[in-house]
Amino acid sequence: MQALVLDHVSHAFGDLLVVDDLSLQLRTGDVVCLLGPSGCGKTTALRVAAGLEPLQQGRVIIANELVADDRRDVPPEDRSVGLVFQDHALFPHLTVASNVAFGLKGLSAAEKQARVREALDRVGMAAEAGVYPHTLSGGQQQRVALARALAPGPRVMLLDEPFSSLDVRLRQRVRDETLHVLKESGTTTLMVTHDPEEAMFMADRIALMREGRIVQEGTPAELYYRPADAFVASFFGEINRLEGVVATEQVATPFGPVDAKGFSEGDSVEVLIRPEALRLSPAGGVVNGGGEPPEHAVEVMAARLMGRTSLIHLRALDVPDYETHFHARVPGRFLPPEKQRLRVDLDRSQAFVFPRQTD
Ligand code: ATP
Repeated sequence: MQALVLDHVSHAFGDLLVVDDLSLQLRTGDVVCLLGPSGCGKTTALRVAAGLEPLQQGRVIIANELVADDRRDVPPEDRSVGLVFQDHALFPHLTVASNVAFGLKGLSAAEKQARVREALDRVGMAAEAGVYPHTLSGGQQQRVALARALAPGPRVMLLDEPFSSLDVRLRQRVRDETLHVLKESGTTTLMVTHDPEEAMFMADRIALMREGRIVQEGTPAELYYRPADAFVASFFGEINRLEGVVATEQVATPFGPVDAKGFSEGDSVEVLIRPEALRLSPAGGVVNGGGEPPEHAVEVMAARLMGRTSLIHLRALDVPDYETHFHARVPGRFLPPEKQRLRVDLDRSQAFVFPRQTD
């Protein structure tokens, strides 16, 4: 079943078109992230789905029911959506339990109580049912906000940057808990974030937006390993960028040729290489006995431990007039001294060729 469909939705503020013909479908139980840079229209798209922005163009369908088109616009409270925002917005004068009970309509007092307890249990906050929000930490408040949104059993959860007000360590914990709560309850979720790592952590699928449009939609692995364009490739983290010209369906790089199938002879292209695609080993090492690929030598400019990985700044030696500064990212602690020569083997699954941008 399609739990949530945005169908050719467009939305403008005055002359500013912020959502431009956006279509997105979530199946029941999907966790989908709307990802993109600040101002690309993510929140507006979410608010249109929730009914918090009146629909201007397109259709919104929730659990196979048309809730908004050019003739109807069902109000948010009748859409069966659970909302969680960045500022958890709990009612300060109500206890945790009363906050969670707030959205529960048409139930007996006993049923309400049971529902509240179940929702608080789910997020590990049952012990705090009687306290007021100001006595809770930010992470606890966000869990209560999640419980409040889940308690009525919404058909869809809409989360807008729900963890961004939390500090880094708390954010990791709360989003981990949130993912498991959403997955265990089978709740269809559309979540807005500008953080690619958070999107990859949370999402079954990611829809990456730019200037009101979805540039690419797919699993995190699809976007990471098969980016549709240079914007997608570079959105998921720092990337080495170099320019080249296509010759016999290949483009030369200091680390060997990269396939450029589909391009014409003489096309100007850019090659984007993820830092982890540059595999380093001691220069002069022999690989696979005879017939090994030619060595591509680099010289270390600097090496820095970044925690779980080491970042190595490299100068390419094979091609003297090349753009020479590259970054390689290596798991663990790898800190070769400056000027040490190393061999590079390129993981071509993380090297991407796109037409060269003219701007
Ligand atoms: P962010 O991550 O910064 O919140 P976003 O991708 O969620 O960005 P939106 O909040 O949807 O983007 O905003 C898209 C554009 O629409 C921005 O240029 C914003 O200034 C503008 N905008 C949003 N809401 C309104 C409004 N109510 N009136 C006028 N302009 C608005």
